[in-house]
Amino acid sequence: MKKITGTLIWYYFVCKREVWFMAHEITPFQDDPFLEIGRIIHEYSYSREKKEIEAESMKFDIVKRKDSDFVIAEIKKSSRFLEPALMQLAFYLYKLDKQGLKMKGELLIPKEKKRVKVTLNDELKRKLEDAISHIKELVKSEIPPHPQKISFCKRCAYNEFCWA
Ligand code: SF4
Repeated sequence: MKKITGTLIWYYFVCKREVWFMAHEITPFQDDPFLEIGRIIHEYSYSREKKEIEAESMKFDIVKRKDSDFVIAEIKKSSRFLEPALMQLAFYLYKLDKQGLKMKGELLIPKEKKRVKVTLNDELKRKLEDAISHIKELVKSEIPPHPQKISFCKRCAYNEFCWA
């Protein structure tokens, strides 16, 4: 299967059916205005600080040093999907931790002037490990899970696959 990425973790905490679509590389419709709004906020709000880092199955926005800690930060357009965003960032901290890099995380929500600190603890690790093993099981299935109407469906690029 496709590697488990931070994006897949994000979707896991939003919609399991969407995880199946993504893991099977089914291409969604691209004219989603929310993708564009997200991109614009991302580009302008932190342009001076902005630095995008890509590493194996990870892609995050900013790495900075705060006192003795190294911090990775993710920029989000709202706190509406706080749990998925938090778990995505925790996944990056978890991957880095496995490589011997102890880092802290921050979720930045410029539109709401919010900063949420994320520290990888045992509870988060357990939650992530459960999610990772469930994703592996989920994508082995020949068919996706049934659609469940959630608020995200309105903005989901796979909407037509579920509700047309
Ligand atoms: S439209 Fe709704 S049920 Fe279908 S994949 Fe998207 S979020 Fe999931």
